[in-house]
Amino acid sequence: MPEHSGALGPDTDVAVVGAGIVGLAIAWEAARSGRTVRVIDPDPAGGATYAAAGMLAPVSELHYQEEELLELTLASARLYPEFAGSLAGPTGYRATRTLVVGADAADRAALADLRQLQLRHGLAVEPFTIRRARSLEPLLGPQLSCAFSIEQDHQVDPRVLAAALQSALAAHAEQQGWTGWLQRGRAAGLLHADPADSTSAVTGVELADGSMVRAAEVVLANGLGAARLAGLPQGLRLPLRPVYGDILRLRVPQHLRPLLTNTVRGLVRGLPVYLVPREDGTVVLGATQREDGSAAVSAGGTYQLLRDAQVLVPAVAELELFETTARARPGTPDNAPLLGRVAAPGGADIPGLIVATGFFRHGVLLAPVAAQICRGLLDGGADGRWDRFRPDRFSLIPTGKSQP
Ligand SMILES: Cc1cc2nc3c(=O)[nH]c(=O)nc-3n(C[C@H](O)[C@H](O)[C@H](O)COP(=O)(O)OP(=O)(O)OC[C@H]3O[C@@H](n4cnc5c(N)ncnc54)[C@H](O)[C@@H]3O)c2cc1C
Repeated sequence: MPEHSGALGPDTDVAVVGAGIVGLAIAWEAARSGRTVRVIDPDPAGGATYAAAGMLAPVSELHYQEEELLELTLASARLYPEFAGSLAGPTGYRATRTLVVGADAADRAALADLRQLQLRHGLAVEPFTIRRARSLEPLLGPQLSCAFSIEQDHQVDPRVLAAALQSALAAHAEQQGWTGWLQRGRAAGLLHADPADSTSAVTGVELADGSMVRAAEVVLANGLGAARLAGLPQGLRLPLRPVYGDILRLRVPQHLRPLLTNTVRGLVRGLPVYLVPREDGTVVLGATQREDGSAAVSAGGTYQLLRDAQVLVPAVAELELFETTARARPGTPDNAPLLGRVAAPGGADIPGLIVATGFFRHGVLLAPVAAQICRGLLDGGADGRWDRFRPDRFSLIPTGKSQP
């Protein structure tokens, strides 16, 4: 365990930049391992985490060309019960099933094709008759062409989970007598053992207000913001891009409750749409994927979501629309995270630096496994299975290792 007290020692064992779902999960795992932790964020849980529907859907989210991710998403889904159970109070974790439905014949063909891919990977996707699907969800629309049941795809409420993680960290900090766990401020850059060498050991974080947090280990978990930090190792390329999503929240009037008891995902004339029912009588309706650079809620996107959701469940027209939100998912060229240590020229990993970003569509699902992988790295180990997600795989660092 590194020293964290004394005049010249670090302020904390681990500094985590970013208090989204990923940074909070990493901070909690580090705290549970006996380390002191400082999380730096001007707006905790206000990024993509604030928007996310919280589907934990390794099976229905399996995409062609993204099969490399499946081992990681399945591993994280398996960790969820213990992860949620480690937190006092509600997390919004619900092990309800996911129903996948198609609208027209082309949607049915596309979902049947996808099922073949899912079956090839040993995943359970059970075809249901529409009648059977309707026996579970009586408010499903009359125009559906097919239905499948996925028992394994569950949900969590990311806002509730993020609040539970913050409460757990605050309680732990107080219990352990730390001076504080959360620093509300924007990280500006990395501090290095040799200020003239950005590939030397990372020793802390400099904030935009000029203050510093000295740490034995720094974890960059600030989503799209990671690539903008000063002092990143020379040659490290973090090719993050914003993929905006519009998402709606609706309240179900008493006479229609429960609108749904399971998550319903649909393909409507080729466009994906989903409805996630929450325990509090609201539903989450999402989500668009836009790369138009606009952080504002899109009128066209909102229209499309409401139109297509009514094909799945016509009673959506009777709900109260109380929130429209848009946020950016942190996308990468291969849609996989940038997760792990970074090699210096010559091949050895740079001490004190871990990157955990680029979680794109899956950050809520992947938070527990990201935390577990970071814990392994902090402990000095590395699980070779996850080397393919190293953050330096797109970089120009002459490590001698092969890169895509
Ligand atoms: C509409 C929508 C629906 C989604 N649905 C799902 C879903 O159903 N299931 C799922 O698994 N995923 C879903 N996602 C994806 C998921 O939200 C993201 O993958 C996840 O939130 C990424 O978490 P994160 O902690 O890396 O990033 P974020 O949640 O974006 O958090 C990053 C944090 O870093 C902070 N930050 C940024 N720069 C700095 C800086 N310089 N200094 C300090 N702090 C900084 C920000 O304030 C923010 O709090 C969805 C995303 C969207 C947009």
